[in-house]
Amino acid sequence: MTEKAYRKNIHLIFPPDISGNPLVCNLTRLYDLTFNILKAQITPRKEGYMTLELIGTEENYHKGITYLKENQIKVSAVAQRISRDEESCMHCGMCTAICPTSSLHNDREARVVLFDKERCTACGMCVRVCPVNAMNVEVENGPW
Ligand code: SF4
Ligand code: SF4
Repeated sequence: MTEKAYRKNIHLIFPPDISGNPLVCNLTRLYDLTFNILKAQITPRKEGYMTLELIGTEENYHKGITYLKENQIKVSAVAQRISRDEESCMHCGMCTAICPTSSLHNDREARVVLFDKERCTACGMCVRVCPVNAMNVEVENGPW
C-alpha cells in the first residue's frame, strides 16, 4: 500500500555563501521528495529566497526539513507567512478570481470567502487586489 502523499508549501532563505539548488535537489536524492519551485529570487545582498512545494511521505518531509536547517537554511511554512484580517474582510470575492491555488475560494451556500492557508504559495496577488487590505503576506524584501 502506498503511503498518502504529504504536501506542503515552504519558504526558504539561503545565506549569501550557500547555493540553494544542490541542497534542494538533494531532497529528492536523499529523501525521495518531489519539489516544485514556485518562486525563486536573489537579492542584491546575494541572499536567496525560494518558495517550494514539497511532496513525499510525512516522515521524509520532516527529515528533509531537518537537512535544510542543518545546512543553515531558514525554513518556514508558507501558511505561517500569510494572514487575513478577519475583521476587515468583507467577503467581496475579488481575491477568489485571481488566487491561482484556490486558497481563497467561495462558499456559495454560506456566501463567504474561505481561506485555506495550506494551499497558499504566497504569490501576493490577493494583497494587490483586496480593496480593504485584509490580506497580509510577510516577506523580507517587500511584497512579491
Ligand atoms: S478581496 Fe479582500 S475583502 Fe474581498 S474577499 Fe478577498 S480578502 Fe476579503
Ligand atoms: S498569496 Fe493570496 S493569491 Fe497567492 S496563493 Fe496565497 S491566498 Fe492565493
